Order: sequence, then C-alpha cells, then structure tokens
Amino acid sequence: MTRATTPVMKKATPEVSVNRTFVFWDIKSFPVPPGFDPRRVRQCIQRLLKNYDYSGPVTIYVVGMITDVHDDILRALSSTGIILHYAPYGTSDIMSLMFECMEDNPPPANILGICYPRAFATPQSGFNLFRPFPYSSAQEDAISWINLILAVSGSLKHEDTFPETDESASWFCILCYDHPPGQGFDSFTSHLSSPEHVLTRNGHLTIGDNEPMSKFEDEDGKPSPIVWWRPMFCLPKSDPVRVKTSYQNFSFLTCVEAYPGRGCG
Ligand SMILES: [Zn+2]
Repeated sequence: MTRATTPVMKKATPEVSVNRTFVFWDIKSFPVPPGFDPRRVRQCIQRLLKNYDYSGPVTIYVVGMITDVHDDILRALSSTGIILHYAPYGTSDIMSLMFECMEDNPPPANILGICYPRAFATPQSGFNLFRPFPYSSAQEDAISWINLILAVSGSLKHEDTFPETDESASWFCILCYDHPPGQGFDSFTSHLSSPEHVLTRNGHLTIGDNEPMSKFEDEDGKPSPIVWWRPMFCLPKSDPVRVKTSYQNFSFLTCVEAYPGRGCG
C-alpha cells in the first residue's frame, strides 16, 4: 500500500460498522497534545470512530519507541486500557504488527492506523484498513492529529463514558517476543530495565533508545529494504545490521543493505 493509495477513514458501511476495530497508534509521530490529559485519548479515539459509525469493540495499541514518551503519559494511557507495545523500529514494526494482527484475528475487522502510510501492511481479505486523514508531511500530520484530538475532545458528549476493558495495563515487548503479554505498568518499566531485556536490546539495536532512528523513521526518505525470512534459514554472514527476530513463523529483518545471493554455510 503506497502513500497515495492508503485509504482515509470514511463513514462505515453497515457491513463493517459493528466489526471489531484495531487501532495502531504511533505515539511518537502522532503525540498526545501538550497539556492534554492522556486519560481522555481513548475516549477521543472511540468517539472519532463512532462519529464515522464504527461502533464495534475497539482495541488500541500504542506502538513505536515508546520509551521516548514520558512515563506519566504511558501510565495514564495504560490505565485506560490502551495496550503498550515497545517496538523500537517504528514504521517497520507497525507494519509487522498489522500483518500479525490480520494473521491472528479472524476477519472481518477494521484497522485504524494512526501512523505513516508506509507503515501499513498489505490488507488481507476481510480487513478494512484506513488512516484518520490524508497524508501531508510528517510535521503537518502531527499537527493534524493534535488538532483532531482537540476537536473531538471538545465534542465529547456527557454519555461518552466508555466501560473499562479487561485489557487494562497490558503490554508487549517486540524484542522479547516470546514473553507472554505483560500486565501492569510497573512490570512494563521493570521489564525494560531487566538484564534480560537490556541484553536482548543491546544485541539487536545499535543505537540507544533515546537516539533518533532517522533512517527508519523518515517518511520522506527512501524506504529501507525489508526482508522476511523464515528462522530456519541462516543469518547473512555480513554484519547483520539491525536484525530483529519476530514472532511465530517468521522473523523480521530490516537492514541497511540487502544481501542478494548470499547463502549459508
Ligand atoms: Zn524486552
């Protein structure tokens, strides 16, 4: 799916209106408005969907290098049932998570991607993927998102009280994928500082959590090559730059250079 063809949210048809909606929110590129109560964001996203007649259950994932977001914001979001997903490769990770969502959940379902168009996975049959608004630029998208949240917040109705969900305070770490979903924000922060996670992280990331990853985050830049490969195959013998194992049947390799024709052994 390209930037030009990524669908934008429209009024839901009766066929998709009651289906479950999964939301993938790249919070680093589409931030919580400054000074805005993060605990209201879930309400705003749900009201936004309702405004477009999406009335089915909603599951919201905050994804990306979420360690760049203040703990107080993450804790507040988590308390409202938004699921935290530590995914340090940003756009590449969001694509793989969307792909996995479509693999793991039976259609029909909707996917709202609050992320760059390049993060969208190819839609599978029965899945309705869309963005909240057309892409303009990274900077203008962030402003559009902030303005949208503020506008929806201003239109919240008294009856916009949404029930708590049983997903409260769940989290995932995409690097330590073999872990079950974590529960509780404190266990999330504990995990990120655990020797096991730090060891895994240092083995997979060549830069620090808080350093920019412009090569992978720049929406206007030339896309990095993305290679899917099954884990039974060998790693390239060249320096496996930015190799990241992933989930279930596939591993996910994003590299600065491709390795055409390089075999094992
Ligand atoms: Zn981890």
